[in-house]
Amino acid sequence: MYKKKYFLPFIISFIILSGHSISAFASEIVQFQQKNANELVIINVPNLDNRKIFTVENPDRLVIDVPLLRIKHGVSLDDYKGKLIKGIRFAQFDPKTSRFVFDLTQEVRIESVKVVNNELLVEIADKSSKKNKKSKIYKSRKSDLPPLIVIDAGHGGVDPGTIGEDGSREKDVVLWYAKALANKLLGIKKYRVLLTRSDDNFIMLRKRVDIARKAGASLFVSLHADSSEEDAARGLSVYTVSEKASDKEAEALAARENKSDIIGGMDLSDERPDVADILISLAQRETKNNSATFADFLVDSLSDRVRMLPNSHRFAGFAVLKAPDIPSVLIEIGFLSHPQEEKMLKSKSYRDKVIDGITVGIESYFRKKSSGMN
Ligand SMILES: [Zn+2]
Repeated sequence: MYKKKYFLPFIISFIILSGHSISAFASEIVQFQQKNANELVIINVPNLDNRKIFTVENPDRLVIDVPLLRIKHGVSLDDYKGKLIKGIRFAQFDPKTSRFVFDLTQEVRIESVKVVNNELLVEIADKSSKKNKKSKIYKSRKSDLPPLIVIDAGHGGVDPGTIGEDGSREKDVVLWYAKALANKLLGIKKYRVLLTRSDDNFIMLRKRVDIARKAGASLFVSLHADSSEEDAARGLSVYTVSEKASDKEAEALAARENKSDIIGGMDLSDERPDVADILISLAQRETKNNSATFADFLVDSLSDRVRMLPNSHRFAGFAVLKAPDIPSVLIEIGFLSHPQEEKMLKSKSYRDKVIDGITVGIESYFRKKSSGMN
């Protein structure tokens, strides 16, 4: 739906400076994990060339240098409570280098350094502890477990999403679909499934992405229902993220969906979603390709089953699709603003067609992945 007031609720005032410019929550750039008695620092930046990792004493610090980044916000530990790491600082070190400094509670040993999927993983251990003889290689968090599919029911709590002519609320409709999809996928016994919400809760968009990343998701599927001032508009569509929306409607839709956090009382003006897009275009091309492949499979399988919006695979800057390492799609299952479609969206028969279509798309995607073709 096109509504001027939904356009760019954020004031965009960003200039690309030299070096890699990113602006994101610290939790996107630096993450921490406990690994038995050791701790893992995970740095996700567009460029890991010429990195340097070392420790300094008096006081004890871990230093990680990476090619120059422009981060508009300070980094912080957020709610991380480690035994070894007690603080974090970030600054430009020289014209070509950015430096992360981690304040430590004691002397540490750098146990391992790995790069997995564009992420730098630095494991540190208490220096006085014994070195693990067979220092286990830190594998990607996507282990030998079955693929994890995160299903995200859009909106929730104070944010009802779109409201249909007949009063149906998007948040309720999509939760119903999300739960049914989860059950369907679990029934196949090849996947693990996680819902970002399983009841009527408000969750920030960024948090939804974090849930998927922390859990090590292989796919992220966000479910929404559409609305339009054009009475005739109906049909399902599949979106993937792009810094450039494929059309005005897609752009307006993304702005509207991204507004969710404002409804929830969070001021997003600091998040600069456009810059998050730049970050993605720099570093996550593979994820974008995988997202597009997945979306195409979904469009194939869904168009056999339900009415589709013209140009069913569209692109726009949805905040919820911005996990840099997880192929992600957003599905608008149909239009609540279309009275007949509203009724249909609430029927079990239509719901099951949509869920079948999504399931077949997921199966096709993993079949292609496991065949080794990219
Ligand atoms: Zn929505």
